[in-house]
Amino acid sequence: MDREINFYCRACGNGFLLAGPPFPENSHCEKCDLDYPLNPRAIGAPDDPVRICPRCGGEEFYIQKDFNRNLGLVITILAALSVYLVFGLTWKSLVGLLVIAALDAVLYHVLPLITLCYRCKTIFRGFPLNPDHQAFDLHIGETYRKDG
Ligand SMILES: [Zn+2]
Ligand SMILES: [Zn+2]
Repeated sequence: MDREINFYCRACGNGFLLAGPPFPENSHCEKCDLDYPLNPRAIGAPDDPVRICPRCGGEEFYIQKDFNRNLGLVITILAALSVYLVFGLTWKSLVGLLVIAALDAVLYHVLPLITLCYRCKTIFRGFPLNPDHQAFDLHIGETYRKDG
């Protein structure tokens, strides 16, 4: 499986999806005339987990499911609402809600994990997970937020 590096232009939000190796050493946003260099040495062999961010040199990362949690929540609420509209407040709707909750949990469980850089929010897909990396930590996230 190819490894993917995914990030967004800081000015216009245009997405860059780089697949490799080899990864391009520079990405350019045509619209904003901004360069996004990538340090190829920071990307190791295929079995090397992410240690240093090839974009910002950051060494702190977090891991999360490759899934837009907000979107999932909206779908779950809509599904629950339609169950309620079809069955009303009966035991059937209760069963329906339980099924939706179970599906949501299963879906969430089977989704692949991705690594994200705290500092520049670059997403690393298909890279081996670094056992040192944890789920998002609000305190670490806050320190980077202050850096701007
Ligand atoms: Zn741009
Ligand atoms: Zn970074």
